[in-house]
Amino acid sequence: MATPLSADRLVAALRAEGVRVAEHKSWRTHNRNHAGSWGPVHGVMVHHTVTSGTASSVDLCYNGHSSLPGPLCHGVIAKDGTVYLVGHGRANHAGSGDRAVLDAVIAEGKLPPDQKADTDGNKHFYGFECVNLGDNKDPWPAEQVEAIVRASAALLRAHDWGKDGDTSVIGHLEWQPGKIDPRGPGVSMGDIRRRVAERLKHPADWSPGGSPPEETPMHTYFERTSGVTLRPGEWYTITWDRVWTPGKGWSDRDREQTLLKGERLFSLDFAVRAGGLGRGQEIQLRVARNAKKDGVWARAKSWPISSPVHDGGRLHAAHHWQGHLPGSDDNRLVAEVLVNGDSPVPIDELTASLLAWPL
Ligand SMILES: [Zn+2]
Repeated sequence: MATPLSADRLVAALRAEGVRVAEHKSWRTHNRNHAGSWGPVHGVMVHHTVTSGTASSVDLCYNGHSSLPGPLCHGVIAKDGTVYLVGHGRANHAGSGDRAVLDAVIAEGKLPPDQKADTDGNKHFYGFECVNLGDNKDPWPAEQVEAIVRASAALLRAHDWGKDGDTSVIGHLEWQPGKIDPRGPGVSMGDIRRRVAERLKHPADWSPGGSPPEETPMHTYFERTSGVTLRPGEWYTITWDRVWTPGKGWSDRDREQTLLKGERLFSLDFAVRAGGLGRGQEIQLRVARNAKKDGVWARAKSWPISSPVHDGGRLHAAHHWQGHLPGSDDNRLVAEVLVNGDSPVPIDELTASLLAWPL
């Protein structure tokens, strides 16, 4: 029998576990308690949002939508690991699942496969929605997964769960037949449970020394300010004039093309400012992986192309990509731009802001 934590105790437990907490709107009194009971609670459920962008995902989980009113969980875990609290009380996240799974969670025993949807999960589970597209391609940054581990451990510690086993944290996919969340590169419930179990052997403020590089992403910022004129119909791989790195500041790049090397998850914003576009003349941006072939860089993969809409004249456009760059020095990430139409287009400025997490 476990009574849900009060809002204050929840925040305190999360902060004690080293979680960065953001309190969203009236989360303390925002719930679905009028629609059903809340508690006794027995465990923690992990989800992905099938969305991108922190602010819009947090709003969605707070408000819900026409067919599913919010809150859609208790906390939204952003890509950077911040946990946004959006509800306290019953929330629409777990739906109906398998009683046998709940029994295993209560007993902290081995999870059976989920085969039935006969039990109200919203009554018995805390829920975290993690910002991820759920397409099995959108990467899960190490900071986000670490926040899942810490937030889960905070609740288990506060309730004194997880002493007999580690099944007090489950994925939605382990609860309700047909669900797939959470999934994607970098996340696995087995890994999360192992890490939660390890954390619980240590005090709440434990910070393992083994993997500090994963804690913070490397941030670099690239600029190309010397003008370049693009000929229509040819992808141009951008050469950068200078780069900003933390600690070092700006340094000249001497027409280097490479944005990133080595195995990394990346998050890239790439922007272009151009003038003199003809009406209907289109500009396209993309990010590509090059691989070395006979000593020469050749395109091996490209991420989806962005074609900003405009009606001629000046253009300032930006686009965002996330992905996984495989390891080895024979791979690199570059940014490319293409114009079509008949006349050359002068580009005034190109910038790229890059976050990279080692794997
Ligand atoms: Zn879910």
